[in-house]
Amino acid sequence: MTQPDVLIIGAGMAGLTLACALAEADLQILVVDPHAPPAPEQWPATFDPRVSALTHASENILRKLGVWDAMTAHRVAAFTGMDVWDANGTGNIQFGAEESGVTHLGHLVENRVTTHCLFALLQQCANVEFRKLALARILENENGGDAAWKVLLSDGCEIVPTLLIGADGAQSKVRDQLGFRCRTWAYGQSAIVTTVTTEQPHDNVARQIFRDTGPLAFLPLRELTNSKRSCISSIVWSLTSADAQRIMTLDDAAFCQQLGAAFEQRLGKVIAADKRFCFPLTQNHAVDYVLPGVALIGDAAHTIHPLAGQGINLGFLDAAVLAEEILHAHEKGLPIGDFSVLRRYQRRRKADNLLMMSVMEGFKRLFGTSIPPLQVARNLGMAFFNRHTLIKQQILQRAMGLEGDLPALAQPGLIADF
Ligand SMILES: Cc1cc2nc3c(=O)[nH]c(=O)nc-3n(C[C@H](O)[C@H](O)[C@H](O)COP(=O)(O)OP(=O)(O)OC[C@H]3O[C@@H](n4cnc5c(N)ncnc54)[C@H](O)[C@@H]3O)c2cc1C
Repeated sequence: MTQPDVLIIGAGMAGLTLACALAEADLQILVVDPHAPPAPEQWPATFDPRVSALTHASENILRKLGVWDAMTAHRVAAFTGMDVWDANGTGNIQFGAEESGVTHLGHLVENRVTTHCLFALLQQCANVEFRKLALARILENENGGDAAWKVLLSDGCEIVPTLLIGADGAQSKVRDQLGFRCRTWAYGQSAIVTTVTTEQPHDNVARQIFRDTGPLAFLPLRELTNSKRSCISSIVWSLTSADAQRIMTLDDAAFCQQLGAAFEQRLGKVIAADKRFCFPLTQNHAVDYVLPGVALIGDAAHTIHPLAGQGINLGFLDAAVLAEEILHAHEKGLPIGDFSVLRRYQRRRKADNLLMMSVMEGFKRLFGTSIPPLQVARNLGMAFFNRHTLIKQQILQRAMGLEGDLPALAQPGLIADF
């Protein structure tokens, strides 16, 4: 394929989802990434330290694409409650699946399970090709205007796709080489992630404490044997970068002790921890997601603080909305790289992403403050929300991804709806 209809740079969760969603049409799709998602026989015996909380909307997308059953056969963990509290005071909000009339609030899934299952589906599609290569350079758009871009891959091959997709993550080369402007701010925070075992079972409740140094989340995972109440959680501990560096150097016993204390021993002592990984946190939002013949999706378009676990959920929606717009255009015989087609995708996704990013930024600032009147106000606010079922339901609908301009793939319902 040197002139595919769609060239997707990046086989992360967003890029693979777009490829799978487009594969039903008679489009030739090429996906490139220097790393193929690892197959289960290559997985270490430990849990993947990268875990995502997937919303109902994301589950619907993965179900309708036909990968959800394969994911559950590997390992996913439904959570049925959420407990959020303020370290400085008594503020506390709890959400339960039952009171909201749903069986679960979401699922915790190791990223390698999702990428592997999407990749396995993609390999069955005759019109999709994967090459283990990187984008080297985007060359001049020789014809100008709406014409295709010429892309140089790391093996020296030149590709001229009708539509180029940047799904190459937070450090996107597609975005940077094409000069997409971004609004970026570093939080001065890093997140430590790992898998831990606690003294007490988590009972499938996702818990998050807001400390003034940053939020700390314990996300419930299933036991490997699945035979007993699980005491295994994935943690995301956001700290100032200096504190994170210090904590990364602690030995396991000291790390478990400090982690348990920061979490107010809500699940008893932390008795074991896997290898730790540390990620710097930045918020980044491309001013535009599209140019004629090019679109950005997922972290290439936006990165968001992990405190609400929304990053890839927004990325799945980007992929589903863009696929919907491309497929509609293709059905009508319109060129798929047409600026008007891509602008519709941008219009549908940008406002939604911006809203989620602004709300999360507001939370981060509100809980990052040590100004006493604001601490009192947020504690009162949490107590107020916790008493008002209707407001809680609205927050939950948004957190489950079931509000806003949903593409057909993300809506509950039959596969035939899509
Ligand atoms: C600590 C932490 C916790 C998080 N928790 C959650 C959560 O609970 N829920 C949630 O929804 N989100 C969460 N996120 C965010 C989520 O992990 C990201 O939003 C998601 O991984 C982005 O997926 P993506 O496919 O857009 O990009 P990526 O996963 O970054 O994939 C990009 C792909 O592009 C490839 N690539 C890069 N450069 C090139 C190139 N030049 N040529 C070809 N290929 C290239 C890479 O190899 C990679 O495979 C969390 C993030 C962090 C840091």
